[in-house]
Amino acid sequence: MNTRAEIVDRARALYEDLDFGSVKEWCATTGRKAVGYLPVYAPREIIHAVGMLPVGVQGGGDRLEIIRGDAFYQSYICHLPRSVVELLQSGRLDMLSGMLFPSTCDVIRNLSGMWRILRPGLYTRYCDVPQVPEAGTGAKFWRRELETLLDDLAKLAGVTPDPASLSRSNALYNEVRDVIGALYRARRDTPWKLPTEELYLILRAGEVLPPEDFIQMARDYLAVTAADDARPRDRVRVIVVGAFCEQPPLGLIKTIERAGCYIVDDDFLLGNRLLTAPVPIGGDPLTALADTFVRHAMPSSILYEHAPDGKKKLIPARVAAARADGVIFAAPSFCDPALLDRPMLRAGAEAANIPCIAFQYSENTGQFQQFREQAGTFSDSIKLWGGQA
Ligand code: SF4
Repeated sequence: MNTRAEIVDRARALYEDLDFGSVKEWCATTGRKAVGYLPVYAPREIIHAVGMLPVGVQGGGDRLEIIRGDAFYQSYICHLPRSVVELLQSGRLDMLSGMLFPSTCDVIRNLSGMWRILRPGLYTRYCDVPQVPEAGTGAKFWRRELETLLDDLAKLAGVTPDPASLSRSNALYNEVRDVIGALYRARRDTPWKLPTEELYLILRAGEVLPPEDFIQMARDYLAVTAADDARPRDRVRVIVVGAFCEQPPLGLIKTIERAGCYIVDDDFLLGNRLLTAPVPIGGDPLTALADTFVRHAMPSSILYEHAPDGKKKLIPARVAAARADGVIFAAPSFCDPALLDRPMLRAGAEAANIPCIAFQYSENTGQFQQFREQAGTFSDSIKLWGGQA
């Protein structure tokens, strides 16, 4: 088995490779196609079931110079669509045969239209997930959407849609979510052994690696961290809420940790674990996948919350589950879903006397001093006054 340094170095190299070299290599060696998806939730099972590689396009981070992307957008929206356009226009995504645009927000909806204009020959689909209170109606709608997607992608791949293949993909992605759940539990229980900086890199690797390779990498990482004899430090336990779409720069995650916080739950790359229950195997796999989404999607800002005061209850429940001391609301600047939810989420936290701080970032934020001071003061105040930040 690889050492911890080897595993993390490999994950870091994948994260830093804005040319998606591993995806290009996979396409070249297998002779198969790759299909991208944007945040937050895309049914990767459907892409995998027709023999293609699902590829998470999570923006350009802080290492991509935006030359063409700014021309497509006004100044007062988030950064993610600019860097995605930049990745596209610079040819870095030329290996993709299609792209899925999940119904995360209007920005992503509009981006799907731009994509169609910029790449008319490429398969593009806007994935409109159900938002209705009645589960049966939602599942029926979502199953139909998934069926259309499966038929379209099968044509693109040159195969016939096969329920048995989709069942196998459902089972494989159940394993993916299982191992991610194990990583999150291990970090929650022993955060001194699994710094979020490393955990995040492993999860990012899962956005570009074939699922089987990711499962192996995650299991190896779990094994080496379990054997680590690191000891707890005097840090407070926090959850980071709101960073579910445009991803924070790695430097921001490091800064929060180095300012005296253990991150014990977060929203990073939320789509990889949005389904909180396994997709049942046996029976119609499309119905199983649709039904699991409708009944077991994690509550989040991308989904309508039907229960009265449901948003206000979310943070106290998450804090209790993670045994956290406080909450850092960290949202991308101009992110409508995160910033519209924040007052409700924060009101619920404060009503339960949970200490909170809030800030906004951009994926290309390069200066972390203000975050260091804010998170450091937050951590110190919790240690000194038991949570009265
Ligand atoms: S960061 Fe927020 S506003 Fe921007 S694309 Fe993502 S969900 Fe939409």
